[in-house]
Amino acid sequence: MSVSDTLASRLADLQSRIAAACRRAGRDPAEVALLPVSKTFGTDRIREAAALGLRRFGESRMQEVRDKAGALADLPIDWVVIGHLQTNKAKDAARLAAEVQSLDRLDLAQALDRRLQQEGRTLDVLVQVKTSPEPSKFGLDPAELPGFVRAVARDHPALRVRGLMTLAVNSADAQAVRACFRALRTWRDRLRDEAVQGVEMSRLSMGMSGDFELAIEEGSTEVRIGSALFGARDYGPAAAT
Ligand SMILES: *Cc1c(COP(=O)(O)O)cnc(C)c1O
Repeated sequence: MSVSDTLASRLADLQSRIAAACRRAGRDPAEVALLPVSKTFGTDRIREAAALGLRRFGESRMQEVRDKAGALADLPIDWVVIGHLQTNKAKDAARLAAEVQSLDRLDLAQALDRRLQQEGRTLDVLVQVKTSPEPSKFGLDPAELPGFVRAVARDHPALRVRGLMTLAVNSADAQAVRACFRALRTWRDRLRDEAVQGVEMSRLSMGMSGDFELAIEEGSTEVRIGSALFGARDYGPAAAT
């Protein structure tokens, strides 16, 4: 079997698992998008995925987006930033990202807005929310969400808030994982009811290879899938450059 067949069959398998989770939850599979997460995978794999019709790809590091965007400039790819974004990388993000899902602080919003204004463009953003107590997880404290969303909408017009993103606790306890997703959905609903001007609080980016079915059952509109699509990641020195 060629590598391309493997990727195609993994994609088909994922799509049927997504559809099955939707059916269990009484949802329409068209409501749940798949965001392939290509971090650490080479441009050959991304080309194969693009040939299968995928065009949005999630990446964690701006340096990797820069390198890949350069190497794949002939393809119509939308780069989606899903990892912690340093403020000093705002310029690259404003130039190269189609979307940032990891907005988690005002100084980053300010830096992005300034660079976007220079580029003369707007950027869709999701606010990353910390729904688990694990110290390694980035994200805004949920209690700060209402004020944060209002401040972004008021002061940073180049950013268009479209929803929320989270990483659930890394746990074998499905109830604990589910609780993270449920908390994000509850916050999304609450903020949607507030109807902040300029904010379209519709999207919920939650669920990864190990927990996307739970996330779909809890209302995810977008699952971010890396290893279940591309295979195991290699974080060795060569892959991390
Ligand atoms: C790496 C990553 C993913 C994908 O993880 P998999 O377990 O490989 O599916 C999703 N979201 C974020 C924020 C990531 O960093």
